Amino acid sequence: MHGVVQGVGFRPFVYRLASEEGLSGFIGNDTDGVTIEVEGPLTRVDAFLSRLRIEPPPLARIDSIAVRESVVTGEPGFRIVASEVLGRVSTGIPADAATCPDCLRELLDPHDRRYRYPFLNCTNCGPRFTITRRIPYDRPQTSMARFPMCPSCQAEYDDPLNRRFHAQPNACWQCGPRVWLSNKDGAEIPADDPVVAAIDRLLAGEVVAIKGIGGFHLGVDAANEAAVLRLRQRKRRYGKPLAVMVRDLNVARELCALSREEEALLTTSARPIVLARKREPNGIAADVAPGIPWLGVYLPYAPLQHLLFAGARVRALVMTSANLSEEPIAIDNDEARSRLGEIADVFLMHNREILQRCDDSVAAVVDGAPQLIRRARGFVPLGVELPLDAPPLLAVGGHLKNVFALARGRRVYQSQHLGDLENLAGLDFFKESLAHLMRTFEIEPVTVVHDLHPGYLSTEWAKQWAQERGLGLIAVQHHHAHVAGCMAEHGLAGPVIGLSLDGTGYGTDGKIWGGEVLIARLDSFERFAHLDYVPMPGSTAAIREPWRMALGHLHAAGFDVKSPKILSLLGATEKEVRVLKRMIERGINSPLTSSLGRLFDAAAAVVLGRRVVNYEAQAAIELEGLAVDEPDDETPYALEIAGGNWSAREPARIGTVPLWRGLLKDLQDGVSQARIAARFHAGVAAGFVQAAVQAHTATGITQVAMSGGCMHNRRLARLLRVALEAEGFEVFRHAQVSPGDGGLSYGQAAVAAAILSSRKL
Ligand code: ZN
Ligand code: ZN
Ligand code: FE
Repeated sequence: MHGVVQGVGFRPFVYRLASEEGLSGFIGNDTDGVTIEVEGPLTRVDAFLSRLRIEPPPLARIDSIAVRESVVTGEPGFRIVASEVLGRVSTGIPADAATCPDCLRELLDPHDRRYRYPFLNCTNCGPRFTITRRIPYDRPQTSMARFPMCPSCQAEYDDPLNRRFHAQPNACWQCGPRVWLSNKDGAEIPADDPVVAAIDRLLAGEVVAIKGIGGFHLGVDAANEAAVLRLRQRKRRYGKPLAVMVRDLNVARELCALSREEEALLTTSARPIVLARKREPNGIAADVAPGIPWLGVYLPYAPLQHLLFAGARVRALVMTSANLSEEPIAIDNDEARSRLGEIADVFLMHNREILQRCDDSVAAVVDGAPQLIRRARGFVPLGVELPLDAPPLLAVGGHLKNVFALARGRRVYQSQHLGDLENLAGLDFFKESLAHLMRTFEIEPVTVVHDLHPGYLSTEWAKQWAQERGLGLIAVQHHHAHVAGCMAEHGLAGPVIGLSLDGTGYGTDGKIWGGEVLIARLDSFERFAHLDYVPMPGSTAAIREPWRMALGHLHAAGFDVKSPKILSLLGATEKEVRVLKRMIERGINSPLTSSLGRLFDAAAAVVLGRRVVNYEAQAAIELEGLAVDEPDDETPYALEIAGGNWSAREPARIGTVPLWRGLLKDLQDGVSQARIAARFHAGVAAGFVQAAVQAHTATGITQVAMSGGCMHNRRLARLLRVALEAEGFEVFRHAQVSPGDGGLSYGQAAVAAAILSSRKL
């Protein structure tokens, strides 16, 4: 039997099932899952098999069951056999799981021996990945090793019928880790109940650093405007939305208008932060998620967090990763104190060591289906299937929001979200996590896969690492990797029409791509069409300052950017515009881009008058937000497709001149921002659908795979899918992997596996 069946209470479940059906035999872990042998009357064996499929424990995931008849032994009773009996164990470590309903009941039951114990867990819940040093996943290999179990805990651990049978982090007040309140210097602050003291501090408006499962959070009362502002100032994080942990699902419903899919996503054992439509007013400080109609909410997933909300004194807390801007999240007590000393007023510490850094995961329901935006706690290290066999390989991902992937055979294991690979702290986290996952899965890569961009730190590192170890190297174009990831998730080998709608990626012509219509196979691609190139005056400065991007676009579209009308739209001085125009005309520091993300930035700058952004894609997200209540059938601005000769493999260009004309006219006519934003989305969708139709005419392909960071845009994703289906296309989008750069390494692995397998033939 294959799947996630180790460390999730599967063996005691099977033990109970076999006993209830009166069967003898055994169960043990093996290399890829578990092996079960049962003996008894045929009807009972059949009943056993069907219950096995229907009633598995909550965290188990059965991928396949192979049934084979074997010789009757006549041995009585059912046994759980040691792992070694059935050979090498390498299925690794389960993902961290939120406190289960049984444990939650015990936590709040004054008669239970674990009443208010902040570290209770069982085989159905608790930390896994974040407390494990190496495989096999057994207590001595975890940070629970230093806490010998008391006789009561040991008895539960040894009893096959107990919910805590082989629950590796099993603990109680007698034997387990403890919580205390600490000041910045590390001195313990005396308190009868440190959790209650922490609540008092939070309600008084203080910033409390709270040690969690994958790292520290910075918590403040989400209703307290001044406290939220203080947190932003100290963390130097302005504008970017902060996530809010709420007491329970009811509070989540009060804060946000939740769909059934969103509620399901909120309550999965991975407990991701879910971006949902906020209600207003909802009692949350305005500065938590300014300028956008969505709020990131999530539910408590660790007993300590549940205790912060127990007694209903606290309704909602801002709980944000404890770091400065894009640094890795802090995990160690001393590290937290030294790094967060200027941010937190007080620390809620504990002495169960966090061994793997792991941020909260972020997800959203996009066009009716869950989509991962940040893959981390609760999803790592679960593997994602590949449609073909891969030799052991490492795909290093991209640059921003980095995630690497290790692949072997039909599985790809993506790392947790590592943040931006821009500096040494980021690279250290990358190396630390790589070493751990290589050990965990016993994967020694023979090939390293990297992005085509020569300047990425990940590329540089990959080349050096491969050279030191004498490994093969494969470079994969960014937007091919995006589309290939979507294809691989759905088992498509291609060719498909790939829409790779994205922010930034290095193209084969050295230009910056991002609005791409590809004809893609897993191992190769051709460029059918792309957004027409426009200059990015100031290069990366144009990403931080979208007005520069608007200037680049308007200039390319033939508008007189020095006219008073455009100057006022850009909120720029004549001198600024003159300097940028000269840069563009002389080709100085103004690389050409076909990025759709940058077109969104440019439009947002003009519509919203946003000159500078505080976080990546802010302007584009705000533009999407403007249109949130507009009807879908808004008349699109036009894009025009020109040139292109498929038989000569010359890509068509998707031009934006009519789009800009329409948009500027609407602005002049006083059309509402919301309506302009809706017409803009509709125009972009219609333009790419038109390009897909032309690609179909040229190639006969009827399947479209959609990927790239712009697919996080709900409105765009929905408009594209609906229109493509209306044209008769079969449309595929990501399901388990992020369409943004967090999913890039999975796509890189798929491309490399396909290239290597075609070389073999
Ligand atoms: Zn539990
Ligand atoms: Zn105990
Ligand atoms: Fe990308």
